Amino acid sequence: MSRIAFIGLGNMGGGMAANLAGAGHAVRAFDLVEAALSRAQDAGCLPAASATEAARDAEIVVSMLPAGRHVRSVYEGEIFAAAPKGALLIDCSTIDVASARAVTEAAEAGGLAMVDAPVSGGIAAANAGTLTFMVGGTAEAFARAQPILAQMGKAVIHAGAAGAGQSAKICNNMLLGATMIATCETFLLAEKLGLDLQTFYDISSKASGQSWSMTTYCPVPGVGPTTPSDNGYEGGFAAALQLKDLKLAIEAAQAADASVPMGHAAGALYQAMVNAGMGGKDFSAMIRFLDGKTA
Ligand code: NAD
Repeated sequence: MSRIAFIGLGNMGGGMAANLAGAGHAVRAFDLVEAALSRAQDAGCLPAASATEAARDAEIVVSMLPAGRHVRSVYEGEIFAAAPKGALLIDCSTIDVASARAVTEAAEAGGLAMVDAPVSGGIAAANAGTLTFMVGGTAEAFARAQPILAQMGKAVIHAGAAGAGQSAKICNNMLLGATMIATCETFLLAEKLGLDLQTFYDISSKASGQSWSMTTYCPVPGVGPTTPSDNGYEGGFAAALQLKDLKLAIEAAQAADASVPMGHAAGALYQAMVNAGMGGKDFSAMIRFLDGKTA
């Protein structure tokens, strides 16, 4: 069992820290929000007064923070100075590739090991310990992180060198954003052409138009498996988070000189959906937005 510092106990981090404590680790947890800290305490974590205090005698530091600027400020401002030499740092936040590479480089220069380990799977998977982790870092750092991540997830995959976890995550989510929009507009067209939507699903889910967005996460209520569309598009993966990931993908594409016209189109549509006040809805509510609805 390890001494683990856990920084960022929000929607995702709360459940992840609880799973590590439940697995028997000594988890020193910190969040800026008092309520998040007391939830972690109820789940068996030891509350810390700061990230520095949490990391001071940690063998492993795990973070689950909103964006690159929070990750940089927590690591550069506190963890690098506080964590004992040789400690392993695991950032599970979804952030830009450049920040992920920069913090890992700085960690290694200071005698620490670090991986970027963003996740696929939402709040339910974080609570259930069934996340998928895509990990960037050296083979040695991955080997140390793997058993800890396995206690919070169902799959832990080494994507490559530092930053590769973030690259895999944003590539996957750019594809997801684009296929969801294509699926939504296709069902709207099918309806206008007079097709029964269940019948169209039965055909297309077994034909070449099939995708995860159709068969696992169908945006049409009552068609396919039960999804957020059957719950008024509540829960699931918020459109605002899908937009965040598309922005990261577009930024990475610009830096890498890659042409991503579908990524740009998807980003513009999710931006419009968020501007219309639908950012808190599940991302499959794009079908309602494309149909002219705003709720
Ligand atoms: P969240 O906003 O619920 O949680 C982030 C937490 O970090 C908050 O509790 C906040 O108080 C804390 N925080 C911010 N700055 C801090 C600091 N300096 N020190 C300590 N704590 C600090 O966000 P979330 O939904 O848990 O998402 C976290 C990350 O996971 C994001 O990068 C997100 O893109 C990614 N992600 C989220 C989901 C999802 O479904 N929510 C799915 C996959 C990945």
